Amino acid sequence: MKNSVWNWVNGNQDAKQATFKVCSRPGCGRRETETFKFADICSVCLRVSYCSTNCQDAHQRAHDRTCKQDAMLGLM
Ligand SMILES: [Zn+2]
Ligand SMILES: [Zn+2]
Repeated sequence: MKNSVWNWVNGNQDAKQATFKVCSRPGCGRRETETFKFADICSVCLRVSYCSTNCQDAHQRAHDRTCKQDAMLGLM
């Protein structure tokens, strides 16, 4: 019995973590503690999200280079 409970808990946490976004700024690595907590999403490609506007600003230049590529791939 105990084993199956732990399996359920572990499986559930994995499922939860998969839906939690991680800050897209390299070196930050902060993870959401609630779903959709990271509201700073790139409005062009919608593929990156940041824990704060600070991280968004810091990563914007580097992201710009891949952003339009990603957006184009998304359209294809
Ligand atoms: Zn961050
Ligand atoms: Zn983008």
